[in-house]
Amino acid sequence: MDPLKALADAERTPYWLDRPGAPEPSPRLTNDTTADLAVIGGGFSGLWTALMAKERDPSRDVVLLEGKSIGWAASGRNGGFCAASLTHGLLNGLARWPDELPTLERLGQENLDEIEATVERYGIRCSFERTGEMNVATEEWQLEGLREAERAARDLGSEPVYLDRDQVRAEVNSPTYLGALWERDAVAMVDPARLAWGLRDACLRMGVRVFEHTPARSVSDAGERLDVVTPHGTVRARRVALGTGVFPPLLRRLRHFLVPVYDYVLMTEPLPDHKLAEIGWRNRQGIGDSANQFHYYRLTDDNRILWGGYDAVYHNGGLIKDGYDQRDATFEKLARNFFTTFPQLDGVRFTHRWGGVIDTCSRFAAFYGTAYRSRLAYAVGYTGLGVGATRFGANVMLDLLGGESTERTRLRMVRTKPVPFPPEPARSGVIQLTRWSIARADAHEGRRNLWLRTLDAMGLGFDS
Ligand SMILES: Cc1cc2nc3c(=O)[nH]c(=O)nc-3n(C[C@H](O)[C@H](O)[C@H](O)COP(=O)(O)OP(=O)(O)OC[C@H]3O[C@@H](n4cnc5c(N)ncnc54)[C@H](O)[C@@H]3O)c2cc1C
Repeated sequence: MDPLKALADAERTPYWLDRPGAPEPSPRLTNDTTADLAVIGGGFSGLWTALMAKERDPSRDVVLLEGKSIGWAASGRNGGFCAASLTHGLLNGLARWPDELPTLERLGQENLDEIEATVERYGIRCSFERTGEMNVATEEWQLEGLREAERAARDLGSEPVYLDRDQVRAEVNSPTYLGALWERDAVAMVDPARLAWGLRDACLRMGVRVFEHTPARSVSDAGERLDVVTPHGTVRARRVALGTGVFPPLLRRLRHFLVPVYDYVLMTEPLPDHKLAEIGWRNRQGIGDSANQFHYYRLTDDNRILWGGYDAVYHNGGLIKDGYDQRDATFEKLARNFFTTFPQLDGVRFTHRWGGVIDTCSRFAAFYGTAYRSRLAYAVGYTGLGVGATRFGANVMLDLLGGESTERTRLRMVRTKPVPFPPEPARSGVIQLTRWSIARADAHEGRRNLWLRTLDAMGLGFDS
């Protein structure tokens, strides 16, 4: 089918957020108040922080402030790959924190186990399926990368399954596949909006005071407390946690480390059984391909295919605008690539197309810190892999705010910061040159040009 026809009726809104079950919004904050802890941001970072603050100490008075509605941003519109990795993948972790990696991997697995346990404990209906992730090679040069990832995983004691061309096609039938590495336990598929809404309900049940449509305009030092100023009321809080993702940070210093990168997604209509049978995919694992510009895709609980990724778009000047959530050139490219991957699905239509913005930092894994004499903590920079890792980041923030020295806060990954991006306009130039080089590397069997090799040597990069 002409990809344009397949897209013709697709709604321009995130599928996950466009369904029954969205909760009634909580009220706005309309008066001054106090709190032991004010959490700013109602995505996964803020929700996990508020919930676990209460779990650690039910008597703590916790307020959560969300500028729009719970989960509207990245947390409610992502691919729903909930990964154990805290380091944006094993190879990125190996390159940056080789000595710490066994600990980071263990903590990541524990974090994913605890997410699963939380989902069960609070009865959150978010279609949590621990089916793992299969990385597929679609070009010969990518096979070595899979072997490298397999060796690294085995060295760390896990047992990924390597599939050759015939084996992977028996698992999921695409004529483009040449091999695959399937990590069976390290990733779960979730319905992200329902996870966010379920965490909100859990917060409310634990007594967190949630205020939506309440943007925090500023944080300032008010002696014993920090003042968080919102349009219709100020929260005087003993501690503040920032889970504000990529949005203009309330702490100016974070601007140097974060850039907004747009990522785009399509959702198909539910596949009839006979169509799905042509692909196989009985084990329902998430799939990612292995080029630098990669697709990620997965089944939903009603057997749609979510198909996202490939273009990672930075708008010069680092602007964030609602209009950027739609990008027809990218949707058409995604649709074409979808039918190349699964020609058997000719005739299937897309029902939704959307984009969202990612908090990219130069090391791809979140960074952490404090301000205002350790009374404010932040965790940002998840670079497209924050569905699971935000819970770890939330625990780091709570440890830091409690003044506790823990296994988490002692990690080098937690104590160090990424290299900052240069200021604009150099920032745009550097990022666009890097994007161009990445696309060229993919078109030339993965060969990295001098610019990418220089960035690699400096431990820098651009990813989604
Ligand atoms: C299209 C797309 C696909 C993705 N796919 C995956 C995936 O499959 N797996 C994965 O692990 N990750 C994925 N990600 C990344 C993942 O969604 C994020 O890492 C994660 O959701 C970040 O959560 P967060 O709470 O830090 O940020 P967000 O979800 O962005 O939440 C931040 C919240 O803070 C609020 N806020 C900001 N400033 C203020 C303020 N001043 N006052 C009040 N509120 C404020 C915002 O309104 C927002 O609700 C994807 C992201 C996108 C965009």
